[in-house]
Amino acid sequence: MRDVIVAANWKMHTTPADAGELAATIAGRTVATGVTRVICPPFVALAAVRDALRASQAGVDVGVGAQTIHHELAGAYTGEISAPMLAGLATWVIVGHSERRRDAAETDALIGRKLARAIDAGLRPILCVGEQLAEREAGTAIPIVDAQVRAALAEVDLAATAAGGLVIAYEPVWAIGTGRTATGADASAMADAIRATLAALGWPDGAARLPILYGGSVTSASIAEFLAEPAIDGALVGGASLKPDEMAGIVARAGITAEARGLVTTAPRERAG
Ligand code: PEP
Repeated sequence: MRDVIVAANWKMHTTPADAGELAATIAGRTVATGVTRVICPPFVALAAVRDALRASQAGVDVGVGAQTIHHELAGAYTGEISAPMLAGLATWVIVGHSERRRDAAETDALIGRKLARAIDAGLRPILCVGEQLAEREAGTAIPIVDAQVRAALAEVDLAATAAGGLVIAYEPVWAIGTGRTATGADASAMADAIRATLAALGWPDGAARLPILYGGSVTSASIAEFLAEPAIDGALVGGASLKPDEMAGIVARAGITAEARGLVTTAPRERAG
């Protein structure tokens, strides 16, 4: 049975001074056995978040992730961070977020190289894919995402990437930070399409075991619609992930899915405080 995952993307929010306390608070409010929790703060706050989670009973099993990595291992790339530099700081990494595609001109080919670097470094990657609004309205969302997945995986070792625990986040670009969401049915149809693409590429196990998250304005109010879909295995959460109350509601709902999947034997409980 696939993992149930809730990953927090803090984007360009928090500082080393406040990130640790926020991470510990969220960890304490999101105790739900069977749910894999991940927090992806800015690079400068990785150490603070790691230390705060290690020091908190509720946080020891919360993963720490980076929001991107460079596609090379080292070199003359001022301001960049490579996968090996994250050793000891992070065990997850987001790759191909639409804000990086938009603001840093990341192409699918470049994203594929980042994916390979992540796998080589032992980082568990969350590959983001998703269509623009015009593409959704034109009825081309599925072929667009199919092409993104194919291009990102074109140069990687599929077996190594599968063994490295690749996660794919379907994030319609028009839903990110806008308050609009896809429907659960649309997200489910996209997850099925992504798994069909992976199977066609020869992905190990026909893609049935690869976790697919939904991302795009997820809140504690909207998460249930997505997790009601068996094809959806969790969420990548942006804005709402900075709010402990929101994360408590999102992870509690994910705990219900984890329990239904037999990943836990007791009902999830939200901790006070
Ligand atoms: C994201 O950053 O991946 C995201 C989905 O953001 P938001 O939840 O704010 O739409």
